[in-house]
Amino acid sequence: MTPISHSLFGFTAGFILSPITGKFGISRKRTVLLCTLGAILPDIDSISLILKRQIYYGTNWYSHHALTHSIAGALLISFTFMLLFQPRLSIHSFKEKTALNKWFISFAVLCVGCIIHLPCDMITLPGVWNGIPIFAPFSWKRYGGWTHIPWKDFYLIYLSIITYAVFFIIYFAELIFKRKTIVLPVLSLVILFGATYHTYHSKFINYHQWNKQQKELVGERLYGFASRAEKMVFRLWHVKTIF
Ligand SMILES: [Zn+2]
Repeated sequence: MTPISHSLFGFTAGFILSPITGKFGISRKRTVLLCTLGAILPDIDSISLILKRQIYYGTNWYSHHALTHSIAGALLISFTFMLLFQPRLSIHSFKEKTALNKWFISFAVLCVGCIIHLPCDMITLPGVWNGIPIFAPFSWKRYGGWTHIPWKDFYLIYLSIITYAVFFIIYFAELIFKRKTIVLPVLSLVILFGATYHTYHSKFINYHQWNKQQKELVGERLYGFASRAEKMVFRLWHVKTIF
């Protein structure tokens, strides 16, 4: 799944969680940001694509779709993030109970984001990795590869762009009128359900059929532009294509 599609799942989940985290003194903005970030972070292992192609497509613990794509990986990523990017809160959490609560809820929201990433990758093509090792490092058995969608789906990409645009408008309207409503959490629930429903009801047969369907969805011109942009990025990374 593309980073923008992954982010949509984390973004909407963040809004849904925000009424709960709000009770623990965590703002809606912080919850949404952390959950969105968490939903993208497991793909940090894609950095190996720039370093060495064999690592990215390999079966090492640091290859793509390896340790970072597991429950333990989600905990590790979230813990490391909190220590690196929230150092003051991390230090204070040792002394104050309020800081400890804030630290723990932030860590938990990041974890939720990272864990949401996992089923989003399981529904895609198996690739060379044949799924993801959810229980690594305790078991390297791989799950997923359900072949519902390939890594790139224009439906999800455009749903993400539209969602961000609409939410941006509603968010500023709420700021102007100084009234926080439940519109965004409710809308998030609808979008998250819609995105999940679409994904699980899609079935990838072959690239010829998929490309034809995607071209019909966005139009020949936009599809051509996106394909050229994708090829350009991969050429920069010295990779012909991911899939
Ligand atoms: Zn991933």
